[in-house]
Parts: sequence; structure tokens; C-alpha cells
Amino acid sequence: MPLLIKNARIITATDDYHADLFAADQTISRIESGIAERECPAGTEVIDAAGRYLFPGFIDPHVHIHLPFMGTHARDTWETAGRAALVGGTTTLIEMICPGKADQPLAALETWLGKARGVAPCDFTFHMGVTRFDAAAEGQLREIAQRGIRSFKVFLAYKGALGVDDRELYHTLRLAKELGVVVTAHCENETLVAERCAELLAAGKTLPEFHEPSRPVRVEASGVAHLLAFAELTGAEVYIVHTSCDEAVAEAVRGRERGVNVHIEVVLPHLVLDRSYTHLPDFEGAKYVMSPPLREASQLPRMWSHLRSGTIATVATDHAPFDFSGQKEMGRGDFTRIPNGIPSLEDRVNLLYTHGVCAGRIDLHRFVDAASTRAARIFGLKGKGTIAVGADADLVVYDPAYRGTISAKTQHMATDYSAFEGWEIKGRPSVVTVRGAVMARDGKFVGRLGHGRLVPRSA
Ligand SMILES: [Zn+2]
Repeated sequence: MPLLIKNARIITATDDYHADLFAADQTISRIESGIAERECPAGTEVIDAAGRYLFPGFIDPHVHIHLPFMGTHARDTWETAGRAALVGGTTTLIEMICPGKADQPLAALETWLGKARGVAPCDFTFHMGVTRFDAAAEGQLREIAQRGIRSFKVFLAYKGALGVDDRELYHTLRLAKELGVVVTAHCENETLVAERCAELLAAGKTLPEFHEPSRPVRVEASGVAHLLAFAELTGAEVYIVHTSCDEAVAEAVRGRERGVNVHIEVVLPHLVLDRSYTHLPDFEGAKYVMSPPLREASQLPRMWSHLRSGTIATVATDHAPFDFSGQKEMGRGDFTRIPNGIPSLEDRVNLLYTHGVCAGRIDLHRFVDAASTRAARIFGLKGKGTIAVGADADLVVYDPAYRGTISAKTQHMATDYSAFEGWEIKGRPSVVTVRGAVMARDGKFVGRLGHGRLVPRSA
């Protein structure tokens, strides 16, 4: 259905102006002042955006939906995650494909694609997890890149499960360089993590609060330095996921100064939560266990400052949804058995707006850039990340006057808890469209499952 948005204040990564916007055939076809309803085809849906912002659809470049991990599965499906994303203003997701070491990459792609296709209401693409590198895997990775999955993911952590060794890392980066594919990387030194976990457990330190000391900031900074040495010598473009601390950012910046092509991501939990949450009584601290872990409160202003300056490019979630009951609880008596993850897909945009824009830490342009535009550019998402004639009509009419609170009782994510229970949000999306179709209104999903499609990507 054609769409006319009247009286919009359009905010992009660079511009701020008032205009009307008309979209038909899934793309934005006119942006002008004073587009009259009578000029539009019969059946055009008209939305008055007076007093609201009009943002490009937001992009979360780091989510897990189908996720077998630690002998269990993450709770969301593309139905629940897609609804949650859209209600929260996110119109495109990049999901991590995480095959086991024995799995074939092409078969894994089919598995992950099969879960999204026909179900996802929002648009999507993937980072292809490389958990093994041999001749068979290499051939399949070439084919996967050719099919438009133009980014890989490697783990320097999770020894024996998902992690690659240095030889595999080297050859993955060489292949990525040859193919022009970006390599996203989870950077923690796995040996340090494994040895420290064993020592803490042996000393009877089994509670969730000991997860952070098992992998302190230097463990992450060391992982970043390690990755960047390999990136420098192979010439590959790399993207460091969920950077949690100033020490890790500093290592990435050092690499950048030597000429390494490196992008830095922060995830929402590392901007608004600190490690004191892992001390909550009655094992509730397990709700806040993720890797890299939540850090000292003194890290948060430093991360906001890197985000404000653009040193940190993107804000994602690392959404990995496990229930407290029955799943997080697997780690009672042993923090290393707590499934990692803090569900935040639905809340990313509103919390970034509330704690970033409203709190004066970032301006509207950096907000749009970090939560949408930059991810589209780094990962080559065609038609995404901006408001312009010819771009996909992925739009968020955003109401800055809205006030509400977050609760597991009202969220669309499938988990039985919210890490942000009772938190206030200032602003939320009033209308969210994906390629011109209205998918969410005022906190409710009103779209069609299966509307989402695989986003075409350029090098
Ligand atoms: Zn992740």
C-alpha cells in the first residue's frame, strides 16, 4: 500500500529538516514539502507525523535468535524476535549463524535461513560463523559469500566449542581479504578465561558475580590486540563485536593508527548496566551474565564518550535470550554453566534514545548513525540505513513525548524476565514500516509474519 507521511521532521546521520514523504513499491519515491493527499493514488495510507521525529529504520547488526548453546536453546523464534524488534523500532537484523565445529557451513546457512524465511516480519541477513577452517569449509565459505552473506564471525573465546585456533583465524582472515568480506570477532583470550574459571571454581567462587573476574578487562584487550595483529598481516577488514571497556577500545585504536581497517561495536548492556547487577541476591545476578561481562561503573562514561566521538561505530545488542527459570538456573553452583546473554533487542532503540539523546550524551545524528546508518554502510546493506529517494521505505515515526516503563509482562521477547524491569523510557516508536508496510504501532505488532526478506548486500 502506498504511504504518505505528512509533517515529518526527518533526522538522518547528517540531516535534520521538515518535509512530507511518499513511498510506493517498497521504496521512498518523494521527499518534498507539501505533498497533497489528492496527488497520491487511491488507498494511500496517510500518517501525520507532526511533533514526532522520522528516523530511518534501525538496524541491529548483532543478534542471536536460533542459538544452540551450552546444551540448551535460546528462547526466541523469528516470530517473537521479529515482533520485538519491530515494536522497538528495529527493522533489519543481522543474525549470527553459529554452527558447531563438526557442522558443514552450507548446511548451517540453510538451517538458519530456513528459520527466518517465511516467518521473519522484519528484514534480515547473517554473519556466517566460522568455527572450523579446512579445505571443505573454505569452499563452502566462498559459496556463502557469493550468495550475499558478506560477513564472517569468529570467536577467540569459547575454547573447544565455537572458538577457532590461530591457524584457522589466519586463514579465515586471508580468505575474507580475498573475498572482500568483513570479519566480525568476539575478542577474549580463551586460555586466560579457561584457567581463571578453573581457579575461581576450585576456590569455591561459584556465584554469578565471579563471571567478571574470570575474564577481566585485560583478557578482552589482549584478545583485541591478538586479532589486530592478524588483521594487520592479512589486510582483512575486521569488526570487533561487543567491546565492553576502555582498555579494549584503546587496543583497537592503536591498531587503527597503524592502518588496520577496524570497526568497533558496543552493545546496549555495556552502556547502561554495570557489574554490580551480577551481585543481585537469590541468583538473580545470573540474569546479567554475558561475555564480555558487565564492567565497573567507571567504564560506562568512557564508553559513552567513545560512542559520542565516533570511535565506537555502532550500537548493537548481542541479544541472546535465555529464561531465568530453568536456563540461567543451570548455573546455580557453577557460574560457568550460566547461558550467556542479556535480552535487549526490543529495548535497544528506546534505551539508547533515553540514556543517550535525552541525557545529552549523544545527539540525534550520532544516535541514528550508531543504531542504523553505520551498520548499513559497514555491512553493505543495500537500501538500508537512511532516508532518501530510492532507499527502502523502512521508517520509524518516533514520539519523543511518550513516557513508559519496561516490563517482562508487556514485552514481546519470549524470555521470562527483563534485565530492565521497571526502567523508564522517554520516547518510543509510534509507527514502524518495513519497505512501506506498517508493521508496528504504539507498542503493538500489526504487521504480517513472513514479510521480511534477505537483504541484498554489496561488497
Ligand atoms: Zn554474540
